[in-house]
Amino acid sequence: MTLSNAASGLAGALADSVAGPVLLPDDSGFTEELASFQLGLRHQPDLVVGARRVADVRTVLQLAGEHGVPVTVHNTGHGMRFSADEGVVLTLRRLNGVLIDPATRTARVGGGATWNDVMAAAAPHGLVPPSGSLGCVGAVGYTLGGGISLLARSDGWASDLVRSFTVVTEDGEEREVGPDDAEWFAQLRGSGPVRGEVVTEMTIGLLPEGRLQGGGLTFDIGATGAEGDPAVLHAFREWTAELPDELTSTLRVMSFPDLDYLPPMLRGRRIARVAVALRGTEEDAERLVAPLRKVAQPIEDTLAPMPFAEYPRVHAEPDNPGPFIGENLLVDALDVTALENLARLTGPTMVIVNIRHLGGALARPAAVPDTVQGRDAQYLVAAVAPVDPLVSVTHPGAAYDQANPGWALEPFGTAKVGVSPGFSVGPRGRS
Ligand SMILES: Cc1cc2nc3c(=O)[nH]c(=O)nc-3n(C[C@H](O)[C@H](O)[C@H](O)COP(=O)(O)OP(=O)(O)OC[C@H]3O[C@@H](n4cnc5c(N)ncnc54)[C@H](O)[C@@H]3O)c2cc1C
Repeated sequence: MTLSNAASGLAGALADSVAGPVLLPDDSGFTEELASFQLGLRHQPDLVVGARRVADVRTVLQLAGEHGVPVTVHNTGHGMRFSADEGVVLTLRRLNGVLIDPATRTARVGGGATWNDVMAAAAPHGLVPPSGSLGCVGAVGYTLGGGISLLARSDGWASDLVRSFTVVTEDGEEREVGPDDAEWFAQLRGSGPVRGEVVTEMTIGLLPEGRLQGGGLTFDIGATGAEGDPAVLHAFREWTAELPDELTSTLRVMSFPDLDYLPPMLRGRRIARVAVALRGTEEDAERLVAPLRKVAQPIEDTLAPMPFAEYPRVHAEPDNPGPFIGENLLVDALDVTALENLARLTGPTMVIVNIRHLGGALARPAAVPDTVQGRDAQYLVAAVAPVDPLVSVTHPGAAYDQANPGWALEPFGTAKVGVSPGFSVGPRGRS
């Protein structure tokens, strides 16, 4: 029996027993079911199944195992690293229920829920989740990699807040994994599933909403194509060395082409933007950010008190899907020469570099053992580059060789202490 025969046998068996859609490549809705934030890769399996309830996950894993068909788990596609070209892709987005327990300040989060879903459910209780720069990222996928939140230096790793996971194992058995399963629990919090298990629910602690000061200071550091002024980058290094844990910030450096559709202040300019999130008062924010404002006049300054629900404005990242490769380094210091280079970056390919300030609560030892990378790091330096989807969908390895933004990270390598798995995304060459 060839694999596609196995898959069509499996499709028949699944159609009778799961509540969600079971779709073959010629069925309408097949492509839509595989929708992804990452457009540089495309799953092309024999079969896609959308889980509508936890029982669907159990049935898919059990029957796929019996038919010898491999299963790939897909949620939002932010963290896609390869495309499945056979077997079943199991999509989770319908498992997006969120149940808040205000008494224990915890949320039971479905395996396919996004941080937007969790935020909406928690907000009426004055609680917030440890979400990151964008609300459309999958809450479980993010937490499996550790999870660096908007206020990470004050709140710690998202995975530190996990009480337990409900998983369905490779052979279709449902299990609760918590501190009593020390090794498995540690593996899931930092490295993710290793034996093909699917997390159908996560119970995670929430944080008090409190007062959030957030926004970004944008500096013009030169013309695209010319050497930029590194003063703001040096100031960021010195400023972050002195900050209290209540303030978490990220420096983004990117160059904009001279194109009509861009706002005039960005056209043809090299930009350094510092995203700031602070648990504290407006006065605290003014005082703490004053040294940065003195270095240069920002061309835009949006730092202000904000309702937590509007937190994606802090990083102001685009939330539309696209084809991209992300690479990163965890470092224990920012090399001065590397910052000089970053201000002057000219190629070989377009790249956006984000430097997230870590430390603070992220550096505290885990109360329950885990496998998170980065407790010993002071910064995460992440580079993202666009890829040509026409190349990457069919030849991910070639696209990776063409567009890999790792070259922009090399100068920071002298202080390398690791790599964060959640920020290495996009086509890598495995198909
Ligand atoms: C624009 C952007 C912004 C980001 N911002 C942050 C940030 O601020 N902080 C941060 O820490 N990270 C951030 N990340 C990284 C992100 O957390 C990871 O890429 C994460 O893996 C995305 O998970 P997902 O479920 O959304 O994506 P997917 O691509 O759907 O899933 C990623 C991986 O997790 C697995 N997976 C997902 N859900 C489950 C489940 N329920 N059970 C078993 N396996 C599962 C999938 O099989 C896949 O291997 C960002 C990424 C992007 C692209």
